[in-house]
Amino acid sequence: MDISKTKSYITAENAPIGIEIKTSTRYGGFSSAPYNSLNMGYFTGDDITAVIKNYYYYQNITKTYNIVTLNQIHCNTVLEVNKENAADIMFSKADGLFTYENNLPLGVITADCLPVMLAGNKCISSLHCGWRSLNAGIIDNAFKLFKKYDDMPVYAYIGAGICEQCYEVRDDLVNQLNPAYNPASALTEKVQGQYLLNMKKLASNALIYNGLSIDNIEISKYSSCCSKGFYSYRLENGKTGRMVTTIQRAVRQ
Ligand SMILES: [Zn+2]
Repeated sequence: MDISKTKSYITAENAPIGIEIKTSTRYGGFSSAPYNSLNMGYFTGDDITAVIKNYYYYQNITKTYNIVTLNQIHCNTVLEVNKENAADIMFSKADGLFTYENNLPLGVITADCLPVMLAGNKCISSLHCGWRSLNAGIIDNAFKLFKKYDDMPVYAYIGAGICEQCYEVRDDLVNQLNPAYNPASALTEKVQGQYLLNMKKLASNALIYNGLSIDNIEISKYSSCCSKGFYSYRLENGKTGRMVTTIQRAVRQ
């Protein structure tokens, strides 16, 4: 399933009322090849002025202003952010964000890793889930923060990321997978020692492990690799742009 070239973003379909979740596509921006054209990654080697123009364009068309993003390093750290500390938290080395604030969009930057967005009745969280951060418990850590604020996720969105057919992994990775997330159900053995890893399945297993019902998990039908219109780190050999996926609790005047 491909993205129309006229679309600069897609939206989660089943998010609770007031929760806005959007993912940028690669269309409509200012970056040149191989970052063409709506590259939302600051740390990709792209011309930074093009990235800033892309953000200016994107924030206006989505009405999603002051997006907080991180310098993602594939760890399990989730940082609490609010309107007072947002500038300080911006570009910190971490892979998750959490807030109780309204109108504070949290962003995850990806090109094959999964954006996982959580919404409770009060709080929200955005998580950058490659296999490392997911396996190291970034989802568990986010759920702990909800508990700290006497809240619980009632909805999760697993966004566009690498599909099972394109994600080949070997024994050495498979042997490290956390048994709590039932990795066997997310793996298909191709030949001996070589597997296909279904990251969307592994992420939904981790959400269910933390107490969320499968009925409250929305999984994007798009993949970063096989749906035209996104960036894919694997398919483009690391020389490419990034999508941003944002979540915010919007209270509009
Ligand atoms: Zn694929």
